[in-house]
Parts: sequence; structure tokens; C-alpha cells
Amino acid sequence: MKFNTKTIHGGQENIDPAYGSVMPPIYQTSTFSQTTPGKHKGFEYSRSANPTRAALEAAFASIENGKFGLAFGSGLAAIDAVMKLFKPGDEIITTNDLYGGTYRLFTKIIEGFGIAFHFVGMNNADTIETYINKNTKLIWVETPTNPLLNIVDIKKVASIAKKHKLLLAVDNTFASPYLQQPLDLGADIVMHSATKYLGGHSDVVMGGLIVSDKELADKLYFIQNASGAVCGPQDSFLVLRGLKTLHIRMQRHCENGKAIAEYLAQHPKIEKVYWPGFETHPNHSIAKEQMKDFGGMISFVTKGNNYNEAIRIVENLKIFTLAESLGGVESLAGHPASMTHASIPKEEREKLGVVDSLIRLSVGIEDVEDLIADLKQAIG
Ligand SMILES: *Cc1c(COP(=O)(O)O)cnc(C)c1O
Repeated sequence: MKFNTKTIHGGQENIDPAYGSVMPPIYQTSTFSQTTPGKHKGFEYSRSANPTRAALEAAFASIENGKFGLAFGSGLAAIDAVMKLFKPGDEIITTNDLYGGTYRLFTKIIEGFGIAFHFVGMNNADTIETYINKNTKLIWVETPTNPLLNIVDIKKVASIAKKHKLLLAVDNTFASPYLQQPLDLGADIVMHSATKYLGGHSDVVMGGLIVSDKELADKLYFIQNASGAVCGPQDSFLVLRGLKTLHIRMQRHCENGKAIAEYLAQHPKIEKVYWPGFETHPNHSIAKEQMKDFGGMISFVTKGNNYNEAIRIVENLKIFTLAESLGGVESLAGHPASMTHASIPKEEREKLGVVDSLIRLSVGIEDVEDLIADLKQAIG
């Protein structure tokens, strides 16, 4: 089955043996009856497993070319479950420009349990090897990164991980499986904030993990059940519904993203546009190789790098909504310096490239002429 068919049918065979409904019923129940102790129809208690969630988990596995999918109450809950694979003394190497919430989880909670992190710039994957020692257990990669759209060479990092017998996890939230499938490139774990492109409609918070190794899947299922950060049946249904249009949404996100990146690049008031589709992007050739297209996430900096000017632009936008998050059908704009990255000291933030005038766009699937006109009137 090819990708566009999988988004609609993947893992959905015989979804409702009772009545043959085309969409899985929302099994809004905490528990399931047993005829005699231990004898049931495959489901006992909805933390352990729920049929609607199971349908979604099968779909997750299918679209990422994995064997096993697991759904969680949020993207961070999914990451937290991965962290529970490790013990005090273990070390993890991760990208240095992580999603802020992941950085907070790693540094404020997981480090406190005796697990050490190395935050490493991975534009050149070779630097990773200098951080590997006998305690290293995992490489955690985000690509493209937030908000500067850096690209990490997944295949190359996977070969380093294999050589040293480490696990490789990829946060595939920004790309979605439409653009890249990390398991095929050698990763062991794919993680998603399904809140973003997978759900796609800004109406649910959810996380997912996809793996192919049975032993790893068993460990993660144990953690999912034992720690209990699962999502509910209603949310599972919503994301399953969202998935069915992932491919056509992504196609339009990419088309609109390209048109807007090109518009911004020629605008006289704009200093720099971050988008992996430009040949001038430092890792454009890797993006071209590992991604099907370049996505709908774009960041840009205005000339003069003026904080108030950036605030004025995001306030003036009328179709783009000023909001955190990304990946929904509607276009969003964000100002990292005052929003997602406000808690990082200015000096440190600027070292990462998150300067005062940086604006991040999640380009939606509206008519691109309207989006460009909105940017034009707001930037002036
Ligand atoms: C949003 C996001 C997360 C966290 O997911 P939640 O669903 O908000 O918990 C993790 N990684 C990336 C790249 C994200 O964009």
C-alpha cells in the first residue's frame, strides 16, 4: 500500500465487526465485561488498551512504515515514556535547538533522575561521535528544527547510532511522515506531537510513538500502561479522522510554504528567510534527499532586527492567527523571542539565532494569494 492510501486505510481492516461502520466507533468506556475472570474480547481496561485508540495506533504504525504504534495524551507524554527506558547514569545526545517543551522536560525533570544530556549542534553529524562514551544510550534528533529549520542528516546519524549500538529517536513532528519516514532511514523510534500535522485541525493535544522492534515495542507498551499517560477515545477518533487528509493537507502546506518563502525572500524589508527549500540553506541537499518536499514552516527576520517592529507585524496580521502551535489547516504566526523562547535569556537565545525580530509562520492551506496579501499589508 502506498502512502496516500495508507493515510486512509492503514491498519483499518475489519474496524467494526459488529455493524461494519466505516469509521471506528468511539468506545467511550473505561472498562470491558468479562464472561469469566480473564476471559474477554481483547480489551479489559482502557488505560491498557481501547479499541478506538488501537485503531489509531495501527494507523500511526502504518503511515510511518513501522510495526507498532502507541498513542499518548500529548507529545511530551510520548517523549516522557521514551525517557523511562533509561536509568540513572545513562547519557543522551540531543540536538541543541530542541522544541522548548522537550528541552524543559529533559533539563528540569529527566536530568533530576540522574540521566545526563549533551545538547549538540547536528548540522554536521560527525560532531555527535565526540560525545559518545560507554554510558551513552540514545541519540534524540529533531529535524527540521524549531524555529530555525535546521536539517539533520538522519541516515548519517543512524549509521553512527548503529556503529555504537545506540538507539536513535527522531521527533518527526515538523516534517510528518508525508515528508520523511525516519524508520526507513535507520531510526529506532519515531515520535510525534500529533497535536500538529497528524491531527491537523488544532482541536486536540496528543502524542505518538512508532517502532518496528518487538522488544522495544513491548518495553514502551509496558511503560504506556504502567505510567498511564494515554489519550482518550474521543481524541483518538479526532486524530484518526485528521490522518485521512494528511497527504492532501501536506501537499498544500508545501505549495503554499514555497510561494510564501519566495515572496518573503524578495521583500525589501526582509533580511533573511529560513526555509530548507532554498538552495542557499546550509543543509538543502540533505533536505532534498531525505524529505519529499520542504514543508510549510518558515521563519524570517526583518532588516534592523527591531523587537517592536516584529510585534507590530504579528499584531497586524489578519488571516494568520497569532498563536503558539503549528501544523493546523489555518495559518499561524508566532514571535519566538516573546512567546516560545521568552524564558531563554536574550544572549543565549540570540546565540541560537532566535533574534528579536524573528517571526515564525506555520503556513496553512488557505488560498495562498490571501496569505501573501496578508503578509504584504502587515509588513508594509
Ligand atoms: C508541539 C511539539 C512537541 C510537544 O508536543 P505536545 O503535543 O504539545 O505535548 C514536541 N516536539 C515538537 C517538535 C513540537 O512541535
